[in-house]
Amino acid sequence: MSRILLPTPTVKQSRSDVVWDGSDPFSAGPLTDRFGRVHRDLRISVTDRCSLRCTYCMPAEGVAWLPKADMLTIDEIVEVARAACRLGITQVRLTGGEPLIRPDIVDIVERLSHLPTDTGTLRLSVTTNGLMLPGLIDDLKNAGLERINISLDTVNAGTYQKLTRRDRFARAVAGVEAARDSGLRPLKINAVAMRGVNDKELSDLVSFAIDHDAQMRFIEQMPLDGGHTWNRQKMLTADEILQELSTRFDLEPLDGRGSSPAQLYRIDGSDHTVGVIASVTRPFCGDCDRVRLTADGQLRNCLFARKEQDLRTILRDGELDENDRQMAIARVLRGAVAVKKPGHGIDEPGFIQPDRPMSAIGG
Ligand code: SAM
Ligand code: SF4
Repeated sequence: MSRILLPTPTVKQSRSDVVWDGSDPFSAGPLTDRFGRVHRDLRISVTDRCSLRCTYCMPAEGVAWLPKADMLTIDEIVEVARAACRLGITQVRLTGGEPLIRPDIVDIVERLSHLPTDTGTLRLSVTTNGLMLPGLIDDLKNAGLERINISLDTVNAGTYQKLTRRDRFARAVAGVEAARDSGLRPLKINAVAMRGVNDKELSDLVSFAIDHDAQMRFIEQMPLDGGHTWNRQKMLTADEILQELSTRFDLEPLDGRGSSPAQLYRIDGSDHTVGVIASVTRPFCGDCDRVRLTADGQLRNCLFARKEQDLRTILRDGELDENDRQMAIARVLRGAVAVKKPGHGIDEPGFIQPDRPMSAIGG
């Protein structure tokens, strides 16, 4: 049995302690941090609500939902994205919670897709559990959606029910089929790899993805669950994922990863690839180009950030005219990126899991 290892990730060194002198935020070049990382990708969580209760993400019951009045409106989301585009953001991924349960999701896509960027107009993708794709995919595509990532951790209906605490496997598969038929490419399927849950069906998931013209990607489980049950010793590592896949496939690592979190491997010398996202054991923070907006209008410079910057107050400040509001949002964005840490620090002794679960941050 061959063993394929992950390449060593890069760690960037601090270039400067001052990346922005506080002057006009729109005239200070790209959104760059102290480590030279240029930020091009904005993840927007449009809701913290969800149609599933995946064990690694949400507790079964007792979720502390964000108050409805705090959720950003479509106009507020577009306002933040517009300022971000003026600072060099070129792509937005809509996420959640489950983004497709938001009733105005098609309008959100439509409005965002017209925003001008350095490279044309904003490129839009969505991360979804897929359940609502059959009814929405045509409208989303017509509204300007370019790419879809579907989260599906198992091809076994019973495991799906245990893992998501809902009996919706057939609907999830219908969602993958709708995405395949839409022609939107590349289509990616993401699975969190978990010991004792889906670790024996990783190769079956790869075959399922290939059959649906999609790329399978396996994610190491991160300490972001609502129940705070994550355990470093128990998690399935990327090396173990690769070891398991190597029992069925020949894998050849590919170069040219860029800022993508996934290391890709060619499968059996074909055009098909599988990705491994080793967020814990091989962090890719050195190439991170992402900032995040939560559904209640808080800016996060990292999934694992302990601090957030409040944009909702700016958005709802009736004293500000449009120009001042854009300027204020841009200042917050620049400030947040300026203080971004070099890495997530999961392996550091003082690591503390963020208060927000993944469902309220937006993965
Ligand atoms: N509901 C949508 C979905 O499931 O695709 C979007 C939101 S979900 C939070 C985004 C991604 O985060 C999913 O691919 C999910 O598998 C991943 N995720 C959630 N909790 C995670 C954890 N603790 N570790 C790693 N990935 C996680
Ligand atoms: Fe919902 Fe996505 Fe979290 Fe699963 S991973 S509970 S689908 S937000």
